[in-house]
Amino acid sequence: MTGKYLMVGAGLSGAVIGRHLADLGHQVTIVDARDHVAGNCHTVRDADTGVMVHVYGPHIFHTDDAEVWDYVNSFETFMPYKNRVKTISGGQVFSLPVNLHTINQFFRATMNPAEAKAFLESKADTSITDPQTFEDQALRFVGQELYEAFFKGYTQKQWGVHPTELPASILKRLPVRFNYDDNYFFHKFQGMPQNGYTAMIERILDHANITVHLSTRFTRDQAAEHDHVFYSGPLDGWYDYDIGRLGYRTLDFERFTHQGDYQGCAVMNYGEVDVPWTRITEHKHFSPWESHEGSVMYREFSRLCGPDDIPYYPIRLMEEQELLRQYVARAEAETGVTFVGRLGTYRYLDMDVTIREALNTARTFVQSAKAAAPMPAFMVRPI
Ligand code: FAD
Ligand code: UDP
Repeated sequence: MTGKYLMVGAGLSGAVIGRHLADLGHQVTIVDARDHVAGNCHTVRDADTGVMVHVYGPHIFHTDDAEVWDYVNSFETFMPYKNRVKTISGGQVFSLPVNLHTINQFFRATMNPAEAKAFLESKADTSITDPQTFEDQALRFVGQELYEAFFKGYTQKQWGVHPTELPASILKRLPVRFNYDDNYFFHKFQGMPQNGYTAMIERILDHANITVHLSTRFTRDQAAEHDHVFYSGPLDGWYDYDIGRLGYRTLDFERFTHQGDYQGCAVMNYGEVDVPWTRITEHKHFSPWESHEGSVMYREFSRLCGPDDIPYYPIRLMEEQELLRQYVARAEAETGVTFVGRLGTYRYLDMDVTIREALNTARTFVQSAKAAAPMPAFMVRPI
């Protein structure tokens, strides 16, 4: 028996779940409040320069999940791309993530890997045995000087709080390397979609059983007309924020253009707190196989997200955790809706994880329907 299903959001979550169900013969309707598909991964070719712009900030595809890699490659050609990030601190440019080049340059040394490891260990605060905060994690693994140069100011700008108030897990995302490998990610598969993420997602959505309505905000009556809703909007938004808003950081992008090469790399971070932006992205370097004379840059500023802003990074400090617990309890009592994606589950999710979870959600849903078993409100519990 075929069903009628509603996806709220035409980002990766809604597109991947919708496509899976459409392939099985179900009727899928997708609504998105924005006037384009692809959610935060949206890319647009700039009319003046021809540069492919990552509209909501830089997106690099990286994964160890072979099925997810095959999945994206079945909809779009992925070009080789390695993210090599630089950072400016103390009037100098350094290589990130912290690697042997960074260490040697910063300490004006010529250490080999073993020497650098021993040296950094001598700088580390070894009294910290089980780092809980971002600051502890940094002091334990890179020591005071590198922490202050590269992480303290940047993190304060990015999150709006002192690094002692943030969990160690945020810094654990970044490696420290004792060789000259400056690839920002360590995943087996890395690349950039040749024609942008939006072209890829348009292809995922290109199916006779899928209808997409853009510039359409979800309303409760739409839910009543469908057998099940997959909701990738904000979890608290489902409840009209009636017990408060889950905290997010939002980003402001100051766009500017340049003739030629502005900074020589895709991402330049600014480690110091006195420079108000966190980073500058030069979009044409995300497509190194293309060549453009003009260039488009985004200067990126982070601040607390207000009701009319786009939510980017879930904050997830103690206060948010309590509110989150209440929303999750209510959501778990719902039937007919599954909360998915980065907003629906109030978690930071990379694209590959989003796709993995979307595929798992769609498969579980199909199995549950066959077994006449209830579909859980969350595939991965947000807390
Ligand atoms: P979204 O893309 O947010 O899509 C949700 C959609 O739902 C939106 O289009 C929204 O308009 C719509 N919507 C919400 N509420 C409603 C409503 N009530 N009615 C109708 N429509 C609604 N991942 C990586 O793997 N690599 C990266 O380099 C990377 N860089 C990132 C950089 C930044 C600055 C950020 C914030 C994220 C980055 N990510 C990156 C993560 C990536 O953006 C997410 O994995 C991906 O966007 C999640 O897709 P989604 O469909 O869950 O959510
Ligand atoms: N970070 C930092 N300095 C940098 C880059 C990152 O202090 O130059 C910190 C910052 O707190 C950030 C975290 O490390 O949130 C994780 O970095 P990542 O590059 O993964 O950040 P994201 O992609 O989430 O912006």
